Amino acid sequence: MMEVLNLGDYCYTPSPHGTMHVPRSRPQGQKWSLDITEAVNLRRREHRGAVDFFNQVNLLYGTLTEFCKASTCPTMSAGSKYEYRWADGITIKKPIEVSAPKYVEYLMDWIEAQLDDESIFPQKLDAPFPPNFQDVVKTISKRLFRVYAHIYHSHFQKIVSLKEEAHLNTCFKHFVLFMWEFRLIDKGELAPLYELVESILQC
Ligand SMILES: [Zn+2]
Repeated sequence: MMEVLNLGDYCYTPSPHGTMHVPRSRPQGQKWSLDITEAVNLRRREHRGAVDFFNQVNLLYGTLTEFCKASTCPTMSAGSKYEYRWADGITIKKPIEVSAPKYVEYLMDWIEAQLDDESIFPQKLDAPFPPNFQDVVKTISKRLFRVYAHIYHSHFQKIVSLKEEAHLNTCFKHFVLFMWEFRLIDKGELAPLYELVESILQC
């Protein structure tokens, strides 16, 4: 099962260039080479981040389940401009319109299945990561962002009344900084919370 999250692990200084992806300076006379240890460490940090952020969103959304119902949130939206439809590409290929709670249920089940799949997220230290590893982490990140976007747009007042505002903001800030450092989310995806994301990255 998932491990308990540790927020302290994810305090990064955002870098506009994504520091983990900038090649180190090349010693004179040597060709570029991929440092395999660095590459594996990068994967392990992405792996760890995916697990922790999944747990955080799961806990946050869990406090809203009695308020986020099919009757109150008939579609998975982020404000009036953005609406998300569900498809996992396997059992549901054509995107379907579902309520927000159903979407989040599909999404969390899908992410948990990915995280539990040892061919994608190997548990053994010496097991290799698959070639599509970062693509999977990117899809997980994109989908977790949508839950944050829905919470901020549709349930922020409830979050305030539950006194969870500071916790939500802290979790989202760590999430954004991690996504930015590892370049896990396309800028266009961030549009529903653009101003908030900008304010985090400019801190
Ligand atoms: Zn909702």
